[in-house]
Amino acid sequence: MSAPDASTPSIPAVLTFAGTDPTGGAGLQADILALASLGCHPLSVVTAVTVQDSVGVVDYLPMDAEWIADQARAVLEDIPVAAIKLGMLGSVEAVAAIAEVVSDYPDIPLVLDPVMTSGRGDALASEDLLAAMRGLLLPQTTIITPNSLEARRLAENQKDEEDDLETEEPEASLGLQDCARQLIGLGSAYVLITGAHEQGNQVINTLYNVRGVVHRLHWERLPGSYHGSGCTLASALAACLARGRDVAEAAREAQDYTYQTLRAAFRPGMGQFIPDRLFWARESDD
Ligand code: PLP
Repeated sequence: MSAPDASTPSIPAVLTFAGTDPTGGAGLQADILALASLGCHPLSVVTAVTVQDSVGVVDYLPMDAEWIADQARAVLEDIPVAAIKLGMLGSVEAVAAIAEVVSDYPDIPLVLDPVMTSGRGDALASEDLLAAMRGLLLPQTTIITPNSLEARRLAENQKDEEDDLETEEPEASLGLQDCARQLIGLGSAYVLITGAHEQGNQVINTLYNVRGVVHRLHWERLPGSYHGSGCTLASALAACLARGRDVAEAAREAQDYTYQTLRAAFRPGMGQFIPDRLFWARESDD
């Protein structure tokens, strides 16, 4: 076998930590498809095994935290990694283990998809896990990609913790810009809040940094409900960062790619539609 030399084209490797989804709609399988579709080599660490169909998640088994760290360290010590993406993490212990691993690689861009529920609403993360995410992962995050519900939950619980120290008075719910400010205050350099759960004919996704809004992109609202759209967006972002785009450009390209996967979505079973991460491979069939 001949050894690779300097003339061998290098494929950027992206490391994803995620739960497996046997339907191929979300989780690790979604990440692998999106990363490969965008020209990256997917490295994958299993954080949990789920039992689910295209309707919803029935159960999940978190992977032992030490096993998660060992899987990651083995590939990180072998293969240069251009970006890291985090999805469903499974347990507080896993969050702590992953936070420790990624802290050894501060120069690798980190994309955090704060997975909390399945599309049907089945819980995939506890409040303790979210607290660990806020304290241990946000300070290391390049960009977090919550939908508007996740952004409110992450930011408002942080506010509740602060309020408990100051006053018993309940406060009005936070606007999305305030949520972004909170998440940036916790250490994430950028926040991309997706707006599919908000009202309106268009879906508005907004990218923020410490100075405020970086860009706001409007997308035609597509009918139907999709399984794996958040995983697709976050993986696409990691792929674009791995290919050298800056964060704003990566966010724009990742949204455009995700929109195309949703327009080409298919329904393999009796539940939700699945984004077609390989839509381009089927275009010649039309
Ligand atoms: N990861 C796993 C393993 C899942 O099962 C799910 C949803 O069911 C998700 C992530 C989140 O999926 P989505 O991209 O639809 O937010």
